[in-house]
Amino acid sequence: MIIAERKPIKELLEMLAGHDKVLLVGCKGCVTVCNAGGVKEVGVLASALRIARRRQGRPIEIDEMTLDRQCEPEFISWLEEPIREKGYTAIMSAACSVGPQYIAERFDKVAVMPALNTKFIGGTLEHEVWAEFCRACGNCGIHNFGGLCPITRCSKGLLHGPCAGSSGGKCEVRPEVDCIWHLIYTRMKNLGQVEKLKALKPAKDWSSYWSGGVRRVVREDLTL
Ligand code: SF4
Ligand code: SF4
Repeated sequence: MIIAERKPIKELLEMLAGHDKVLLVGCKGCVTVCNAGGVKEVGVLASALRIARRRQGRPIEIDEMTLDRQCEPEFISWLEEPIREKGYTAIMSAACSVGPQYIAERFDKVAVMPALNTKFIGGTLEHEVWAEFCRACGNCGIHNFGGLCPITRCSKGLLHGPCAGSSGGKCEVRPEVDCIWHLIYTRMKNLGQVEKLKALKPAKDWSSYWSGGVRRVVREDLTL
C-alpha cells in the first residue's frame, strides 16, 4: 500500500492562512490503513486545526468528509455538491498525493492543499511501524534475489551485493535496518540457489522507471 503521514500542524496552518471555510477530505484506502487520513484522522485533524485557529484569534469553519478512494475520479465527483452548496474556498486532502491532484484538476475555483506527505510503497512491520518495500521500478526482478528487492531495501541499491560494510546482518548506512543482501544470501542458501547469485547480471534497464516521464498502464484486454 501507499504509506503517508500527516504534515505538521504548523505547516497546515500556514497553508490555510487566508481561508475561513474549508472542507477536509479523507480517504478510506491506504491512508486509512496507515492511520494517516481515514475518518478518525480527519476528525482529529479538523479539531486540532479549529482549536489552533481559535487560539490565533481567527476561527475557521472546517467540514469533514471521507471518500471511499481519492485515486479514482468517480469518487472525486462526490465533492461536487458540497463544493457547489457550501462555498468552500479551500479543500484540504488527507489522501496520498493522487487525491489532491485529482481534486485540483476537477475544481478550478477552490484552492487545494495536501494534508499528508506521501512517503513510499510499503507494508506494516509492527503496530504503527511501516517500511518501504518497492520503488515501482516498473520491471520487477525480485525472482533473481530470492523474492526480496535490493533496489528498494539496500541503502545503496546494489544489484550485486553485499557491500563491504554489511556487519552482523545489519546495514552500514542504517544500522537499525537488516542488510537486505544478508537476507538475500540466507534465503538463496536455504533454496539451494547461492550459485545463481554469482552470475553477473546485465545492467538493469531503467527505462521503465520514472526518469522517462509519466508512466501509464493500459489494459487493452479490458478496455471496451
Ligand atoms: S524490482 Fe522494482 S517492482 Fe520489484 S520490488 Fe523492486 S522496485 Fe518494486
Ligand atoms: S550493508 Fe547491505 S543493505 Fe546496507 S548498503 Fe551494504 S549491501 Fe546494501
